[in-house]
Amino acid sequence: MRHFAVVGSGPAGFYTAEALGKAYGEAARIDIIDRYPVPYGLIRFGVAPDHQSLKAVSKRYDQVAAGESVRFVGNVNVGEDVSVAELTDLYDAVILAIGAPHDRKLGIPGEELPGVVGSAEFVGWYNGHPDFAGLSPPLDGTHAAVIGNGNVALDCARILSKNRHEFEGSDIVGHALEALERGSIETVTILGRRGPHQISMTPKELGELGHLEIATPVVDAADFPPLEADQALEPGHRKSITILRDFASAGPDASKRKRIVFDFFAKPVRIEGDGKAERLIVERTVLDESGAAKGTGETYEVPASLIVTSIGYQTPRMEGVPYDQRGGKFANEQGKIADGLYAVGWARRGPTGTIGTNRPDGYEVAEHVATAIPAGSDGDRPGGAGLDALLQERGVRATSFDDWRAIEAAEIAAARPGSPREKFVRHGDWLKILGR
Ligand code: NAP
Repeated sequence: MRHFAVVGSGPAGFYTAEALGKAYGEAARIDIIDRYPVPYGLIRFGVAPDHQSLKAVSKRYDQVAAGESVRFVGNVNVGEDVSVAELTDLYDAVILAIGAPHDRKLGIPGEELPGVVGSAEFVGWYNGHPDFAGLSPPLDGTHAAVIGNGNVALDCARILSKNRHEFEGSDIVGHALEALERGSIETVTILGRRGPHQISMTPKELGELGHLEIATPVVDAADFPPLEADQALEPGHRKSITILRDFASAGPDASKRKRIVFDFFAKPVRIEGDGKAERLIVERTVLDESGAAKGTGETYEVPASLIVTSIGYQTPRMEGVPYDQRGGKFANEQGKIADGLYAVGWARRGPTGTIGTNRPDGYEVAEHVATAIPAGSDGDRPGGAGLDALLQERGVRATSFDDWRAIEAAEIAAARPGSPREKFVRHGDWLKILGR
């Protein structure tokens, strides 16, 4: 028998567990450890609440968790309750699938002012992440800005631009829905330090902006290179640019009261305000020969009392695990960190790619594990039994997949009309459902 610990129960963790299950069959036991009693990581806390079809992938993870050789071990914080070194002693291999939950920083003056929030915080707030339930982003101004030209920036801008009706069928948490409805944001400016050709936004997500009930996209045709330049683009990317060009040529829909303004070639240099964010000072840029943004020296103001920085994420450091500072991820070679220690998903390759990207990623790392520890060989590690003994000694009460099912049933029972569930957001609320 072989024993594996997968740390993190998001997409990367589940795909890796699935792959290990296939590689080893009955000859392995796999523990998926999560610091929360609720699984799915990014699916629950990151994917936009109005993108329920993407969240449906968790059904597949349920099947993995229900497998005979897999166990969900929730409510165990690796790094606090048990160390990585202890896990590598207990298991034949430990696979870190902790994602990249921390915001990268802009590093400009004023970033610490109230009203400036990272997208991990803002997304976590509307998605019911316990760390950000108390965020209370200022929504009482008329102008917000989102910095970054990726899909997360689009998510944030869209959530700020919908009315209550448009959230029907979503699992946005009640506190965010109420606050957004009370809010008065009329203009959301999305700032990109480079141009339309350099966006990291995908067509489906961009296209959604053209179908909002009360908000209209505003794009300046003057920001685009000549149309012929689009021919050189990869087809998916070209589609995104075509959508942006269509927004520009259609012009804003005057019947809609909110505007989502694309401000390209716009590099934030400073955030100003009297004790809180009130405006961004932005420098106009041009592209240099390498395609990087180069400041022109021309600056202007963008009013914004809420500023969401959406410029990418980082994996947190863990004691004893080598770290790649530039990449914001664990230092690894094709997923291997050290003998018996691996990384998958965003913790392995950095915060890029869709949920589906994590499947081949997890399978590849499982293959490396299976090469190092051939299926059919026996080891002498105690695995889950050893972890249980350690946790009991430390008074840590882990939760099971059945416990999660009980939490999920309570969330479904508490759902407001039109929503699949009302997420409970505090650790204590989850444990209360379990009678603890
Ligand atoms: P991303 O796609 O890497 O975009 C990051 C953006 O931040 C880029 O536009 C980048 O511009 C900009 N940026 C970085 N540093 C900056 C700085 N100092 N100043 C100004 N701008 C800066 O990251 P993401 O949006 O966080 O998304 C993460 C991954 O999740 C992506 O692969 C994304 O596609 C995926 N995702 C998918 C969906 C979906 O499929 N529905 C939804 C959300 C996220 P430069 O290009 O100039 O560096």
